Amino acid sequence: MRIARRLEGLVQSDIRRMTRECERVSGINLGQGICDLPTPPLVRDGAIAAIREGRSTYSFAEGTPQLREAIARKLERDNGFRADPATEICVTVGASGAFAATISALLDPGDGLLLFEPYYGYHLNASLVAGFEPRYLTLQPPDFTLREEELERAVDAKTRAVVVCTPSNPSGKMYSRKDLEALARVAQRHDLLVITDEIYEYIRYQGREHISPASIPGLRDRTISIMGLSKTFSITGWRLGYAVGPARLIGAVTLVNDLYYVCAPTPLQLGAAAGFAAPRAYFDELQSSYQRKRDILCEALSSARLPPIVPQGAYYVLADCTRFGPAQEAAMTVLDRARVASIPGTAFYRGPPGDRLLRFCFAKEDGVLEEACQRLRSI
Ligand code: GLN
Repeated sequence: MRIARRLEGLVQSDIRRMTRECERVSGINLGQGICDLPTPPLVRDGAIAAIREGRSTYSFAEGTPQLREAIARKLERDNGFRADPATEICVTVGASGAFAATISALLDPGDGLLLFEPYYGYHLNASLVAGFEPRYLTLQPPDFTLREEELERAVDAKTRAVVVCTPSNPSGKMYSRKDLEALARVAQRHDLLVITDEIYEYIRYQGREHISPASIPGLRDRTISIMGLSKTFSITGWRLGYAVGPARLIGAVTLVNDLYYVCAPTPLQLGAAAGFAAPRAYFDELQSSYQRKRDILCEALSSARLPPIVPQGAYYVLADCTRFGPAQEAAMTVLDRARVASIPGTAFYRGPPGDRLLRFCFAKEDGVLEEACQRLRSI
């Protein structure tokens, strides 16, 4: 039997492939962004209690009221915009589920979708599976600055949407207010839908402020904000995310969410709802603990002569791997010599710049990260 033409040329992401390679050599996995840190007790115990209480049936397609209400409070407190929990929030199976439901609900096959390069490969490949035509705007390291004239040029007659991942996976770029105001002007001129991915919103450095695109004047009505709980509560395997936007659009997203997934796992939603009651200090502590990890890894990469592009946010660092050859080869050399897995930059770029880079993830317990750094320093 044949496989759908849309899948031609698509293979499983290197993000997943490198995890298998890593297991083969019993290495330390700084490849896939697994985030193996402890889950906050509030979240864990909330889910356990919900299971014990038998809260094990479907929730509404848009999620349990408790979680949507907690999200609405959090949006107002931390993201600078409001959403009606009854109509403007849909809880999904991870941020990836939110992305899939959003693009299927709001775009048509053949529509152009603009990605900033380096991009998160899942945004690209999920869009290809849905039959969209990607457009690209390559941003240049180390600052990955967004220039309005370049953005304007990257939009053509078929472009209907633009994806903004901030803080970005893999570059760590955090879009500034100026970047987002330029985006707002271009989006208004061309009537573009803005789809965000803000899953790393609490992981940022040197006190840098996370600015949600929907909080920028002119963007709220044309933006689907996608956020997730995986990284904030270290529950990547729970698969919980959400989409926020105008009621009419979220209604369509919810329709698709229902058809694809029915709902996100109910007891896990209740655990996450409990997590939002955590004191503000919990969210602040995320920043300082990750900043220390970032600095430890960047220092080790420098001593390994893999010069890092120090990230502003998220928990990945891109490093120049030219010393070990093209990215795929370099990733295997680092894995063989140091038994540390990374992701070849080719997973995040279409062309040559990706061949010079490896992505390392530092969402690891300190002891494991220290050990990985020790190994990297000696290659
Ligand atoms: N978002 C994470 C990463 O970029 C994990 C993605 C995944 O496991 N598919 O590594």
